[in-house]
Amino acid sequence: MNNAKPQHAPTPYFTCQGSDLLAGNQPIKTLAEIVGQTPFYVYDRQVIRAKIDEFRRHIPPRIRLHYAIKANPHQAVVDCIARQVDGLDIASQKELLVALNSGMAPANISFAGPAKSMTDIGGAIAAGITLNIESETELERARDWACRHARVARVALRVNPDFELKSSGMKMAGGPKPFGIDAERIPAIIRCMNDEHLDFQGLHIFSGIQNLNESALMEAHDKTFALARWLALEGGKPIRKLNIGGGFGIPYFPGEKRLDLGTIGENLATLCQTHADLFADTEIIIELGRYLVGEAGLYITRITDIKQSREQLYWMVDGGLHHHLANSGNFGQVIRRNYPVCVANRMDELALQPVTIVGPLCTPLDVVADKFNLPHGEIGDFIAIYQSGAYGATASPRGFLSQPDLVEILV
Ligand SMILES: *Cc1c(COP(=O)(O)O)cnc(C)c1O
Repeated sequence: MNNAKPQHAPTPYFTCQGSDLLAGNQPIKTLAEIVGQTPFYVYDRQVIRAKIDEFRRHIPPRIRLHYAIKANPHQAVVDCIARQVDGLDIASQKELLVALNSGMAPANISFAGPAKSMTDIGGAIAAGITLNIESETELERARDWACRHARVARVALRVNPDFELKSSGMKMAGGPKPFGIDAERIPAIIRCMNDEHLDFQGLHIFSGIQNLNESALMEAHDKTFALARWLALEGGKPIRKLNIGGGFGIPYFPGEKRLDLGTIGENLATLCQTHADLFADTEIIIELGRYLVGEAGLYITRITDIKQSREQLYWMVDGGLHHHLANSGNFGQVIRRNYPVCVANRMDELALQPVTIVGPLCTPLDVVADKFNLPHGEIGDFIAIYQSGAYGATASPRGFLSQPDLVEILV
C-alpha cells in the first residue's frame, strides 16, 4: 500500500483507511459529498495543531508565536489558529477584520505591508493594533491621523536589515528593498519619536521566507539580534516588541527535507540569554504563515476525462491553476516542479505509470502534475494535491477563464 503514496515528499500528516485518503478522519469521497462539489480545499485542524505543537516543543517558551494570516486567511482556519497562538499578523484591512473576528486581542495584532492607504492606517489605529511602519511618510500619516482623531497610534518600525536570509524562497531584505526602512536610518527616527500621538512599540525585522536551511536561519537570527541591539542602543528607547520574522519553510519537492527546529530553538535560547541585559522585558516574536498551515491543506479535484496523446497519458481534472497557482509553478518559482499528488480513492494501489494531469484552462500553463507516477485511474477518481494549505485559494487568479469557484472547509 505504501507504494501508492507520494514518492517524493514526506507527508506524514495524513493517514489512509483501505483505499481512501483521510482528512479529519473522513474519506475524501465523503468530504466531496458534504461539500457537494469538486474542486475544494480541505484543511485539517489536527495537522495545524501538530505543527503548532512542533514549534512549541523546540522553540523557547519565552518566544511568542504569531500567525501571518496572508498564508491562509480562511476565517475558520484563523479562528482555529487564533486560539493556539499569541498573536496575528495582517497585511490589509480585510485581514484586520478577519483577525478581529477571531477574537484575538488588538494588542496582539500587527499590520505590515508597503503602500498602506489612509483607510488602512486609520482602521489600524482605531482598532488599537500595532502598525509596522514601512516608510517615513507612513509614520507621518499615522501621526497625522492619530493627531486629528485624538488617538494614540501604536507603531513599530519595520527594518530593512543590511543582510539577507540566505537560501530563502524569496528575497525580502538586504540591499535596496521596498519593505521597511533601511536599518541605518532607524536610530534617528526612534530618537525623534517624542510625540504624544505615537506609542513606540519596537522593531520588526523580517528577512525572508520558505527556508529549509537551519544554519541560514540561525545565522539570520544571530544577525537580527545583533542589529536589534545596535538599534536599541542607538535609538535610546526601550524595545517592547521585537518581531524577528519567520521564514520557516516546508518541504514541497523531491530531495527537500523537513526543518529541524531543535538546533534553531537552542540557538534562540542562547540569543535570548546573551541579550537579556537589553531585551529581558521585550516580547520576542516569530511570525509564521506557511509553516503552520501549508502541510494542513489538500486541494481536491476530480478526473473528468482521460486520453492518450502519442506516448503520454493525460488525465483532465476539474481544478487547476485558477485555484492553485503555486502548484502550477507560476507563483514565484523559477522552474516548475511537482507538488506531491495522489489518487485519493486508490491509496492501496501501485503507482505504475507516469501521468500528466492538466486542468480545464485553455493554456499549457495549467499543469497539475507532470509525468508523475500514479496508479491506474478512472473518470470520477479524486486527485489530492498535498502541501496546499498555504498560498492556495487567495493566492490564485480565481476569475481567470471564468471557471466555477472553489469551496474551502476545515475539518
Ligand atoms: C509573507 C509574510 C510572512 C509569512 O511568510 P510565510 O512564508 O508564510 O511564513 C510573515 N511576515 C511577513 C512580513 C510577510 O510578508
